[in-house]
Amino acid sequence: MQEFVYYNPVGLDFPLDEAIYVTSNIEETKDANFLISNSTEIDCEVSADEIDFYIKNSLDPISKKIENVYKLYEIAALKFDLAQDITYTQNIGNKVLLIANSDDAKSFISNINPNEFDLFQIDESIIKSISGHIGNLCVVVDDEGKDVILKVDQIVWFDIKELGLKQSGSFDPTKSSINEVIQTLRKNIDEYEYRKFTTYDSNICQYHERREEVCGRCEEVCPTTAIIKIDSKKHLEFSQIDCHGCGGCISICPSGALDYAPISRNSIFEMAKEFRDFIPLIIPNKMNISSVNVPLKENVLPFKIEGEKFLHETSFLTILQESGSQLIFFTDFLSKGSKDAIRILNEIYTKKYGKKAIFVAMNEEELKEALQEVDFIEKSKFSYNQEDERKRETFAVRLSALVGQEDLGVVKTGEHLHYGKVNINEDKCTLCLACVGACNVDALKAYPEDNTLRLNPSICTACGYCELSCPEKDCLTIQQDIIELNPSWFLQRVVAKDELFACVECGKEFATKKAVEKIANIMGPIFANNPAKQRTLYCCENCKPKVMLSADISKNQLV
Ligand code: SF4
Ligand code: SF4
Repeated sequence: MQEFVYYNPVGLDFPLDEAIYVTSNIEETKDANFLISNSTEIDCEVSADEIDFYIKNSLDPISKKIENVYKLYEIAALKFDLAQDITYTQNIGNKVLLIANSDDAKSFISNINPNEFDLFQIDESIIKSISGHIGNLCVVVDDEGKDVILKVDQIVWFDIKELGLKQSGSFDPTKSSINEVIQTLRKNIDEYEYRKFTTYDSNICQYHERREEVCGRCEEVCPTTAIIKIDSKKHLEFSQIDCHGCGGCISICPSGALDYAPISRNSIFEMAKEFRDFIPLIIPNKMNISSVNVPLKENVLPFKIEGEKFLHETSFLTILQESGSQLIFFTDFLSKGSKDAIRILNEIYTKKYGKKAIFVAMNEEELKEALQEVDFIEKSKFSYNQEDERKRETFAVRLSALVGQEDLGVVKTGEHLHYGKVNINEDKCTLCLACVGACNVDALKAYPEDNTLRLNPSICTACGYCELSCPEKDCLTIQQDIIELNPSWFLQRVVAKDELFACVECGKEFATKKAVEKIANIMGPIFANNPAKQRTLYCCENCKPKVMLSADISKNQLV
């Protein structure tokens, strides 16, 4: 059984790989189970419109085209196999709230069947709040000074306002058409399907269970109520039913706690490997490429992605280095994280190779221009097995390979993508290790074997939680928003060191020398008239009571 099908009613003027079932008769595909097709008219798991886009526009010779079309099928299958998104269903009733003026309401009602929906109509001026999600929406309205709660399944809101955009289940006919919205309402009733778009690792989340809030950026950029901060517990709550799947939260998540389920970091890596010696043209699904006519110069291959906002510095650098080429991102929207990542990588590439890394093309004209300029970059290829590694670790290894032994200066990060450098004043640091406990990405680590505190700046998220946790004054500071492009940036370095102090009674090592000295300096003057208490400052926990007890006995004997 063939998994790949190519359907074109007018045929094709060159042959395709024999693994692809080619037909101009759609009837022949009716009873088959295909995985990937070029056309949405075929019933299959994935419709890959990049195949026809490539066939129509590519300037590759025929022999290459045959190979590359097959490659595009394989890449689409790989993406499908590696996707981690799960589909859920929710029961939806037929209660619909119509928010419209009388003319719009009339047009809407004239297009539906009588009794098709359980319809309420209100004016937007009386809405006080909206909560819940599709199938369970709660709208509070002002009814002559009294709050009245309307429970509905879906909302149709002409010229929708911000209040209605946060949760799932609201549809605006002015953004599409009355008929499209009615089709959507009908489709959603009974079994509404939604997907899980994000995966989350609380262990490296910079918000999760911290005393102070040092992150929560994902919630800030989320256009819906799909991510909510529970401040009392410092937990994040995810409402997958409200998630649009845009991926904006993933592009700004500093630690990589969030990943994109349809195309995870692993998936990007596996797909990127297929682009070795090709020029990647990244195209989000939402871009309509069926009508785009551009000459794709030889070796340019479309890299189709779902969601337009999730790409970050690690995903871009992975694609760049695996391909050994510059790349084009053809999109009509750039997320905050992607925008910063592109700027930073372009600066880094310009310093290293004298040319930028990423061309952003927001329309067909810009795409044509970018296609003229985009090219391979000599010696920029770097292959590295990053499977199952954290986002910053991967970026560090890849960037380190790019920097090599050179000193390329400094690149500024921020405003949405933060890197930084922790500085520790060794004279002030008592090695209490509060900072190590605060760091959940292992940028700061303690090494008991030689009593050192070490920092790997390349994986620090510059969250600042260690700075907040350090009990010493003027000891730990963070130089925000830089990446140093030299070999030492990627190495773990000793930032503080001490010796262990041995108990003056039993000889057991029980604290660092600096910690003992610090307490002795504070308490010494207070205990000035009590030699036993003074001695306890240099004793371990076990010996302290013994010293005090024997001092008491001696005193009593003297009395
Ligand atoms: S952006 Fe990432 S690290 Fe920050 S709160 Fe959200 S999941 Fe956690
Ligand atoms: S070293 Fe400090 S600033 Fe960097 S990630 Fe760890 S806790 Fe945050």
